[in-house]
Amino acid sequence: MATETLHREVVIVGSGPAGLTAAIYAARADLHPLVIHGPQPGGQLTITTEVENYPGFAHGIQGPELMQQFEEQAKRFGTEFLVTFVSRVDLSKRPFTLWTDDGHEVRAETLIVASGASAKWLGIPGEAPAPQGLGGLGVSACATCDGFFFKGKPIVVIGGGDTAMEEATFLTRYGTRVTVIHRRDTLRASKIMQDKAFANPKIDFIWDTEVLEILGAPETGVTGVRLRNRLTGAESEFPCEGVFVAIGHKPNTDVFRGWLDMDEVGYIKTAGRSMATNIPGVFACGDAQDSFYRQAVTAAGTGCMAAIDAERFLDSLPVLTMTGEEVTMEGEIITADHEQIIMPDGEVIPNHPEAAGDDKAEVEGVVYTSPAAELSS
Ligand code: NAP
Repeated sequence: MATETLHREVVIVGSGPAGLTAAIYAARADLHPLVIHGPQPGGQLTITTEVENYPGFAHGIQGPELMQQFEEQAKRFGTEFLVTFVSRVDLSKRPFTLWTDDGHEVRAETLIVASGASAKWLGIPGEAPAPQGLGGLGVSACATCDGFFFKGKPIVVIGGGDTAMEEATFLTRYGTRVTVIHRRDTLRASKIMQDKAFANPKIDFIWDTEVLEILGAPETGVTGVRLRNRLTGAESEFPCEGVFVAIGHKPNTDVFRGWLDMDEVGYIKTAGRSMATNIPGVFACGDAQDSFYRQAVTAAGTGCMAAIDAERFLDSLPVLTMTGEEVTMEGEIITADHEQIIMPDGEVIPNHPEAAGDDKAEVEGVVYTSPAAELSS
């Protein structure tokens, strides 16, 4: 396959709310971003139905339609799209290089990783998105997104970790009963989350049990689950109208492993007040770096931050790093206390014009006056 080389100032991997918001900002800043995404663009929102909590849509909007709007907005300002998978990267020097499955070699002056995360699924009958299964018709992996649709209905939550306890507790606002089905007889969740779930009178537990199938039909939605007790092997049916699969998420960051600092699950570590990773010029946003909030609106917010960080970096302005220092594209490092600048050749200079010794210092025609000098004059 012939290799085509592309070179861009901003390359964004991923086209969910984080990636496309980064694209909108970078495109409006005239940075001509390139978005690389797989054959199913739009991220996790494209597999949900109605989105009622994205601000600006008072009457809700379908997930796929919302993502279509994001994409059109990004295109309107000149974002380019490449539909392929990133199979290998070299982040050892700028421009960074990304190789794609379809034979592109993409050089990036700055890289924004917005590759998202995927909810883990059980792989059982009835679980797939409609029309193949009942996904969106009673099966979900996000209580915050879909809990509202289960007002006054019996709900099942599958899993035994913190996510399952959090989802179950949240869902008691809506469901008549919430039944947690766990494959073992002890929970993996932290004590505080377990205690809250055990103390909640609307939550029941079914232990040592796996879910074999989600039952129902497109006309009725979910009507129940088929269970198997792992100790006795006995199978049974349990009626419910909503099933929340809460067995964890996996960030889509494998291709960046070994380059970017991540936690043990694979969430990319960022600086906190900025979206900088451990590599200057590489930024991460959305669910690829956020295991906690995981909302479309928070992903969009961090996408905006990543684009502004990339803009600043390309303008040679300092960007906050994970160590509290700030770096510029030229390799200047501003110490965390803001007192000194370490130049690329190792020279250390003060970060205050007046600290050079005089009350007045002239730099490129600009006369700086220290506040102390002004006060005493
Ligand atoms: P997790 O801790 O990995 O728990 C996943 C749960 O799903 C486990 O109970 C596991 O069962 C079960 N499970 C996995 N695969 C399964 C399968 N094929 N069939 C049936 N059950 C299956 O994931 P998580 O709950 O999403 O938490 C991930 C991280 O985020 C954790 O560090 C957690 O503390 C953190 N988190 C924190 C909060 C909070 O503090 N507010 C909220 C959510 C998440 P086993 O126990 O048998 O392995």
